[in-house]
Amino acid sequence: MKYLSTRAATDSTERKRFCEILLEGLAPDGGLYLPESYPQVSDATLTRWRTVYHEQGYAELAFEVLSLFIDDIPADDLRALCEKTYTAAVFGTGEIVPLRHLENGLWLEALSNGPTLAFKDMAMQLLGNLFEYELARRGEELNILGATSGDTGSAAEYAMRGKKGVRVFMTSPYGRMSPFQQAQMFSLMDENIHNIAVDGVFDDCQDMVKAVSNDLAFKRKYKIGTVNSINWARLMAQVVYYFAGYFQATKTNAEQVSFAVPSGNFGNVCAGHVARMMGLPIDNLVVATNENDVLDEFFRTGVYRVRGSADTHETSSPSMDISKASNFERFVFDLLGRDGARVKALFDDALAQDGRFDLGADPAFGQAATRYGFESGKSTHADRLATIKATFERFGMMIDTHTADAVKVARQHLQPGVPMIVLETALPIKFAATIVEALGREPDRPAKFEGIEALPKRVTRMAADADAVKNYIAQHCP
Ligand SMILES: *Cc1c(COP(=O)(O)O)cnc(C)c1O
Repeated sequence: MKYLSTRAATDSTERKRFCEILLEGLAPDGGLYLPESYPQVSDATLTRWRTVYHEQGYAELAFEVLSLFIDDIPADDLRALCEKTYTAAVFGTGEIVPLRHLENGLWLEALSNGPTLAFKDMAMQLLGNLFEYELARRGEELNILGATSGDTGSAAEYAMRGKKGVRVFMTSPYGRMSPFQQAQMFSLMDENIHNIAVDGVFDDCQDMVKAVSNDLAFKRKYKIGTVNSINWARLMAQVVYYFAGYFQATKTNAEQVSFAVPSGNFGNVCAGHVARMMGLPIDNLVVATNENDVLDEFFRTGVYRVRGSADTHETSSPSMDISKASNFERFVFDLLGRDGARVKALFDDALAQDGRFDLGADPAFGQAATRYGFESGKSTHADRLATIKATFERFGMMIDTHTADAVKVARQHLQPGVPMIVLETALPIKFAATIVEALGREPDRPAKFEGIEALPKRVTRMAADADAVKNYIAQHCP
């Protein structure tokens, strides 16, 4: 399997292999990598995978799916990496992504039982093992520099802790993450993990990361890399749980299911799109947003309008608070018949000049729903509170704020006879304040996180200054 950029000219023959793009972020032309074509899963293969999943487990299914996208890691090595990643010890349950029934036709797929209690562990844990493997093979090192407002940073740190050849420098806005999230990150004592609390907001952190990455000499000298959600390997790892959810909800390949996905940067639901393109019988992909409804607006109207920081809302489902959706370009590439020049014009020119583009009048836009199965909806703070309360009262099940957004929107798109699987993206303990607001009680806390807030913390406070972070990195790289 070879990969191309979403901004590649139609006649371009530039292609890369998996391990080349693994450690890279954006393509040099500013686009995102996608497989040259989507591998097709036949009915016979789907039947075989169903048995593989039920009899051999999630890791073996992951190996099967990943093998279609990776041809430059020997099969035995890839299988070992999957087996090392998807274990009951790491994900708290042998099923890895158990499906639970809510009500008639509505299911919840639990993706949040990994080390940081958010679905980002599903991909990040694999990424940690892939990075360590590939860096050792090359005899190289990598310094991951990132900015986080919560889930991404902790998932990256728990994936990379103790890994050979990798250091993590994670910036976060001082005092702005939930106490639980701060405790998760700052209590890590691993030598290769560096927490940097910045006096500023998340955008300041992101600006610092950009400034450092734009200093090409520094970037090269210190081997600076990223693990953000545009990394293809993360998206690819997420494809697996769409198959696993399907095999749990159905008995035969003749059945279809739909998925409802709490969405921010469009990484999670884009993996569903890839699974659907591979031939997984998915009826609809329901994109759920919170008040930051960039994506819902697009799927309703064809207008993609990036928000400024002034009209990006701080909500109680903060991991969906986005001003633009960094993975969305991947879907637009497919929607426009893989016309890289046109994608480049939209994302490079139109967005830069006008902050928006409008596909509403383009015949291709209608295909987002008819051919690709996309639907969307929006949820507000009041919806979240009501959904969390109703779900707890009716089913005795506590769901987090992001998952609640998707449950709310999923109910509006239920079709008779088609199971709707809501992806659970975090556990409620991560967003305790809103749970208390909805239920009048604290969320359940997994035993291993008892007393985490009282643990010693390892964090360096810093002004919002790119030079300060450069100095820090230089001092901590031998
Ligand atoms: C990251 C995240 C999301 C959004 O996922 P995308 O892939 O960016 O769409 C939703 N919920 C939670 C809890 C998250 O951490």
